[in-house]
This record gives sequence, C-alpha cells and structure tokens, in this order.
Amino acid sequence: MNFELTKEQQMLQEMVRDFAEKEIKPYSREIDEQSKMRYEIFEKLGKLGLLGIPFPEKYGGAGGDTFSYCLAVEEIGKACGGTGLSYAANTSLGASPIYYFGTEEQKQKWLVPMAKGETLGAFGLTEPNAGSDAGGTRTKAVLDGDEWVINGEKCWITNAGYSRQVIITAVTGKKSNGRNIVSAIIVPTDTPGMTIACNYDKMGVRGSNTCQIVLDHVRVPKENLLGDEKKGFSQFLYTLDGGRISIAALSVGIAQAAFEKALQFSKERVQFGQSISKFQAIQFKLADMAMEIELARNQVFKAAWLKDQGKPFGKEAAFAKLFASEMGFRVCNQAIQIHGGSGYMKEYDVERHLRDIKLMEIGEGTSEIQRLVIARHLGC
Ligand SMILES: Cc1cc2nc3c(=O)[nH]c(=O)nc-3n(C[C@H](O)[C@H](O)[C@H](O)COP(=O)(O)OP(=O)(O)OC[C@H]3O[C@@H](n4cnc5c(N)ncnc54)[C@H](O)[C@@H]3O)c2cc1C
Repeated sequence: MNFELTKEQQMLQEMVRDFAEKEIKPYSREIDEQSKMRYEIFEKLGKLGLLGIPFPEKYGGAGGDTFSYCLAVEEIGKACGGTGLSYAANTSLGASPIYYFGTEEQKQKWLVPMAKGETLGAFGLTEPNAGSDAGGTRTKAVLDGDEWVINGEKCWITNAGYSRQVIITAVTGKKSNGRNIVSAIIVPTDTPGMTIACNYDKMGVRGSNTCQIVLDHVRVPKENLLGDEKKGFSQFLYTLDGGRISIAALSVGIAQAAFEKALQFSKERVQFGQSISKFQAIQFKLADMAMEIELARNQVFKAAWLKDQGKPFGKEAAFAKLFASEMGFRVCNQAIQIHGGSGYMKEYDVERHLRDIKLMEIGEGTSEIQRLVIARHLGC
C-alpha cells in the first residue's frame, strides 16, 4: 500500500482545496443559516470534472479513483459540511450504483449528465418504517406489462430536489424463505405520481438538500430496473460500503476544519497572561485531535486503496466510517471547548461543525450498524 499521493492526486487535491477555499467556504455560514443548497457550486464542480472523479471519461468522469475522490470529499467537507454531504451522496449513492450495475444505455442516459453536473444524483432507500432495517422496505414495485408500478414513501433522501432521477429501492417479490426481494429502480423525478418535498428543518448539514418522496402509482419502463432484480439487496450493500468511505472522508474534512480553528484560537486567546495554547491541558487536547484526524485519514486511504485494487474493503470501510465519524464528533466537541464561550457562538463556526458532524454517526448506517457490520466480518 502506497500512501504517497501521485502527482495527479496532488494536483487534484490542490485544485479542489483552492476551489473550496474560494467558491464554497465564503458561503458556508450563509448556506447553514438559510438551510439552502448553493447549486451554483455543483454546476462549477461539474464543469471542473469533479462530480465524476471515479468514473471513466466515456461516462463524463475524470477517470480517477476512489482515493482521489476521497481527497476531494475531504476538501469540500472542510469548507462546508452540507455541501460535502450533497457532493458525496451525488457520487457515492446517486451515480455509483448506475456505474456499477447499470446497462450501457442507463449509463449514457443517467450517469453522464450526473458526472457533468447537469443534474445531481440521489438514492432512496430509507423509509419511515425501514431505516437500519432495509429488509423491512415497504415500498412495492409490481410489473404491469412493460412497466413497474411503484407505491410507497421514502424519507430524508439527499439531493432528490435537484435530481432528474432517484434510484428507489422497492420490494418486487418474496424469496423461498419468505424474505422480501428488494430491487433498485431508476425513477425520473418528473414521473406523474412522484411527489418530492424538501421541507425538513435539520440540525446540521443544512446546505444539503433532504427530501421526502411519495410514490403514488408511479409508472416507469421495466428497463429502468437497475442491475439484477434479485440482487438489489447485495447491490445496495456494496453501494453503501463505498459510500461509507466517502462519509469517513467527509468526517475527516469537517474535523480538520474544527481543529484548525481551535489551534488558531488557542494561540490568540490570552488568559492568565499567556495564550491558552501554552497550557498543557489545551496542548493535550490539540495533540489528541491532530492524532485522531490523521489516524482516521489513514483509514480512509486504506479503505479507498483496497477498493481501487479490487480487493475486499467492506470491513475497512466500516472501520473508516465508524472511527472517523466518532472521532469527528470528539474533535468538534473539543474545538468548542477550546473556544470556551466563543465556541458556543455561531460567529466562530465550530458549533456548526459539531452540528454537521453528528449526521456522520447516523447516515449510511449508524455507528451501531457499523459495529454490527464489523462483528459480522469477524465471524460473530
Ligand atoms: C440528513 C440525512 C440525510 C440522509 N440521506 C439519505 C439518503 O440520501 N438516502 C437514504 O436512503 N437515506 C438517507 N438518510 C437516512 C439514514 O441513512 C438513516 O437515518 C439511517 O440509516 C438510520 O435509520 P433510522 O433513522 O431509521 O434509524 P433507526 O434504524 O430507527 O435506528 C434508531 C436507533 O436504533 C439503532 N438500531 C437500529 N437497529 C439496530 C440494531 N440491529 N442493533 C443495534 N442498534 C440498532 C440505531 O443505530 C439508532 O441508534 C439520511 C438521513 C439524514 C438524517
């Protein structure tokens, strides 16, 4: 395993860092206050080829790898957690399943516009009664002639309000053991019967678009089935494994932002006649924060590297997601502590980082589910 960035990866990292610093960070507080995605950012990211980093050029991508994509997620997340979440959800959840499992026609029709930034991608798995327990999906799709007829409801779906299509998971039958067969179907968002409402008032990641989707006798051509009808469940588990690496990278980015602010504040804030960074209690906090961020980043790199090598990466992705998200929460919490009362004020941004990072312990499989995944890999 080689963690030294290639020249291309270094160039990409610098380009994204520069873009995020100039085009995202200055708006991050406003995005949070208004709870509104800044779509112009995504149009620009698309033009720069950053929305399709891990996909081949023939699909509008940059021909890069997961590793490079994670570098970009970290930089964007460092500038704005909400924008970072929408960025990661677009590539990992909206676009990747079509790249992994789609037909050539589906890739041309749906993946290319996403990679170019003409639309965002979204993945609708969660339902009011099926969160961690995705097998409990109630949305149903029934084949009627040449069309799927879909009925159900999805909640908290990232980017759906800015997507031309959402990948919807739905029960399409029963296995011999009585368990549901859950399949994935690409549903254009302008299909009659599909209602998308994006009115959630969220705690954090407020710059990401989050929607409820109601499907009332929605009809789509049977060719919109994504991949193997009977393997929908394993397909989305693979998708989520990949997505977890990007949530880990996003956690590292948010934590890095909070850490840098805490370090700077600690050098400037004077109490008892000296800057608080001279107190060992503060130094130890900063040392722990820096160490934990670096360890999480290394685990992101390891998981991404394994995926890029075509090796099994599910356990390492769960390690990365679990450790990075919980590390991020600790780091953002300590960043507030180092700021004292100032940290409790919006002006200093660290309270936003804490609100943003909390989602990382919940989305794409909660911390409890990550521990279950790891335990399963251990043969428990
Ligand atoms: C801002 C935001 C964006 C999101 N974006 C998307 C998206 O784009 N697409 C999508 O499909 N979903 C999305 N989600 C949904 C997210 O993935 C779910 O919230 C998450 O998977 C948890 O499901 P739940 O909220 O129903 O919690 P539940 O599954 O009800 O869990 C509640 C609690 O019980 C615990 N628990 C559940 N089962 C077990 C168990 N077996 N053992 C131990 N503990 C358990 C959980 O860990 C948690 O602590 C988003 C959510 C949010 C908040």
